[in-house]
Amino acid sequence: IKHIAVFTSGGDSPGMNAALYAIAKAAEKNSIKLTGIKKGYEGLIDGDFINLEAHQLQKLTQKGGTILKTARSKRFMELEGRKKALKTLKENNIDALIAIGGDGTFRGLLAFSEICDIPVIGIPGTIDNDICGTDFTLGFDSAVNTAIENIDKIRDTAESHNRVFIVEVMGRDSGYIAIYSGLVVGADAILIPESAQDYIQLLNKIKNYESEEAFIVVVSEGDELGAELVATKIKEMNSDVELRITRIGHVQRGGNPTALDRMLGIRFGVAAVEALIQSKKNVMVGIVKNQLHFTPFEEVIKQHQINNELKQLLVLFEK
Ligand code: ATP
Repeated sequence: IKHIAVFTSGGDSPGMNAALYAIAKAAEKNSIKLTGIKKGYEGLIDGDFINLEAHQLQKLTQKGGTILKTARSKRFMELEGRKKALKTLKENNIDALIAIGGDGTFRGLLAFSEICDIPVIGIPGTIDNDICGTDFTLGFDSAVNTAIENIDKIRDTAESHNRVFIVEVMGRDSGYIAIYSGLVVGADAILIPESAQDYIQLLNKIKNYESEEAFIVVVSEGDELGAELVATKIKEMNSDVELRITRIGHVQRGGNPTALDRMLGIRFGVAAVEALIQSKKNVMVGIVKNQLHFTPFEEVIKQHQINNELKQLLVLFEK
């Protein structure tokens, strides 16, 4: 391997810059040229490239977002776009590719693998933690910490006014951010897309709650009802309830990555370069039971699962 190209794709997530730094460092140690592709698959198609060197990236591990920028690409969904991307790689003498992104990005990589004879390694970069083949994705821990910081603040005001708060956290179709943040802030209910909820029971609890305390419901954005509908239904049942909705929103995607995410970025980045040197291809590097773990793209995009232990915690801690 003489020349690796790397890009970030889909939603940005804290820790992506740390991964880029680690890739640059490992490439440099192995005398491999590194090219950065801007704006995900769009830049791959168009040849929007920059030179990446470890010393430029060294101080960026603390920065959220991605210095390569990221994008969604309609053109890469089409075979023509993917063919153009391959042509661009070949014209630039790139002989290996590292992609950092979420489940959509891996669907793209699987489609690309049908025509691409250049080895590709993926790194799971998404706050959603919805990727098979790794215990944690890059950015999840930072997003959870941001959610916690915000919900703690909401609790202060909720308790002062004895209000019901419906707090919506991110995660697309994954309830991981809701579970992790909801459990550790002491939420009274946590609603996730992966578990059917007994809404009537929940609504009755809220209806009957002692107005001497706050009631905090953490709802995942992918939940079947969603924050607005939960709020509407509560109001229908008990119009006296003092209720507020807070959508924490995109702050969960930004901010300095936590120590865990910086470390994940460093481990994933180095492992991706070493995997290419060892002739691995079309696999994602993950960490399972604190060991590096490689999973073929077709496995990566399978439906993620929330294990029973976590689901039972939800039941144990609900009000
Ligand atoms: P996040 O989960 O953090 O939002 P993501 O990687 O899932 O990140 P997406 O927008 O879903 O983000 O996917 C990124 C890009 O992957 C898409 O814009 C598209 O270009 C490409 N992609 C997704 N699915 C496919 C597919 N089936 N075939 C080809 N390309 C795809």
